[in-house]
Amino acid sequence: MIELIQEKWNEYVFSKEILNWTETFESKTALVDGNRRITYEELGKMVDYCWEKLEKIGLSKGDKVAVQMENHAEFVVCILTFLAMGVIPILILPAQKTREIEGILKTVHPKMYIYDTKNKHIEKLIEENHICFGKLDKAFFSQAIDVRMRISKKGQHSIHPINPDDVALLLLSGGTTGIPKLIPRTHGDYIYNVQKVSQRCKVNDQSIFLAVIPMAHNFALANPGLLGTLMNGGTVVICQDAAPIEIFSLIEKEKVTYMALVPSILKMCMAYRNIDDCDDLSSLEMILVGGAMLQEETARKVDAVLNGKLIQVFGTAEGLICMNSPDDTYEIRVSCQGRPISELDQIKIVDENGNEVLKGEIGELITKGPYTIRDYYLLSDQQGYFNEDGFYLTGDKARVVHGGNIQILGRVREQINRAGEKIMPSEVEEIIQINPNIIDCAVVGVEDSILGNRICAYVTCRKEIGLDEMREFLTDEGLASFKLPDTLKIVEQFPYTAVGKIDKKKLCDLL
Ligand code: AMP
Repeated sequence: MIELIQEKWNEYVFSKEILNWTETFESKTALVDGNRRITYEELGKMVDYCWEKLEKIGLSKGDKVAVQMENHAEFVVCILTFLAMGVIPILILPAQKTREIEGILKTVHPKMYIYDTKNKHIEKLIEENHICFGKLDKAFFSQAIDVRMRISKKGQHSIHPINPDDVALLLLSGGTTGIPKLIPRTHGDYIYNVQKVSQRCKVNDQSIFLAVIPMAHNFALANPGLLGTLMNGGTVVICQDAAPIEIFSLIEKEKVTYMALVPSILKMCMAYRNIDDCDDLSSLEMILVGGAMLQEETARKVDAVLNGKLIQVFGTAEGLICMNSPDDTYEIRVSCQGRPISELDQIKIVDENGNEVLKGEIGELITKGPYTIRDYYLLSDQQGYFNEDGFYLTGDKARVVHGGNIQILGRVREQINRAGEKIMPSEVEEIIQINPNIIDCAVVGVEDSILGNRICAYVTCRKEIGLDEMREFLTDEGLASFKLPDTLKIVEQFPYTAVGKIDKKKLCDLL
């Protein structure tokens, strides 16, 4: 079966795909960015034009380019051009900081760094790392787009054959500690991934996608995101500021049918909607939520508050994507993260010795499949990330429920060991969230010389609440006494990672 798919992959390269999209959907609107509306035909010409220019300044197939841009049309043109040329973009999130970026540059030595001119701190980094073209091209794509809008002839460029097994792009692993690892995704596997996700949530030429989280992230780029929408002839509406006020006004104005959010932005949107519900959200069909744990308490309210179907997505940039289908029952959509997108995805739930647990039991989710990587890019020590059978170890605790649906329960490493008792933060978070005084919460294990780990609950709240009151509430809700928080900290705001997940490492550092 895998051979069959790989045979099909012979056709899967972005140069052919992008040409196919732009020719098939020609006069349809591909992109909306503020006042700019760009058709598929125009987008194709922009890509051609940029391709020609980039070739002239010496970029060619196989070169690597670091890209750190916010959500705007230039980002889209830039990524499509690189994918079509066979140049390999390294997708750095707009909020990623110098220390993380430096590690990447030292590993990969990209030929060029493309960034938004407001990111002044990058200039020093580029100089220090001797990246060619860095200065020359900082505003290149913006200029190219403006020029392209005015002229209509096709760019002249040469075409180098690309193989479906060639690396198409390098994504960054989503950890909150240390230097991100580089994830090589090939033309064949990434296009297959985009196709499968698009099929699961039925993206078509009537779909209008609102890009809220950075499109440099795998979720908004390809699941189905920017690429899935363009592949099916839909329209991508770019949201530059992930604030509820802009999100809701764009949904109403552009008749958005679906969007992808991380739980923190989802919660902001729901809180805002409860105060101000004047925007018309009747076009909204699906709200895809993923990237971090979504408490069931919140999940249950999404359909009603946002007037669309909640679709939970468990995604990894390394490959495996599990997600709900719009045809799933409400109970499945609110309680689990769906099934793998490909019938060829192999998943296992294993114990700490790597042995499969019994059906329905909790363990670590490991996976192997047609679009999941078998190793990280240029990483000398791959140990601990893959097992001897080539399965990727996700580091996520999970179980399989309701006929093959995955339920994610948190990170393996996050498990708290309090005096020998094992506690999953997600279970405590789930119940804290029921308290009406609480807006959001995060539970972490903090080192303790006597207990091993102490349970610390961080909360943002509507009305102040003390530790005793919280423990009493959790006890009344049926939480075992050994799972009750030892410390309760009220914070004004949570620290977030570059894509908007609560940064638990930073929270622990606060203590
Ligand atoms: P990234 O590489 O940034 O896509 O992060 C992947 C990781 O995010 C996974 O290994 C999980 O730890 C977490 N994650 C993604 N989706 C979910 C979800 N729906 N629920 C819980 N955690 C998730």
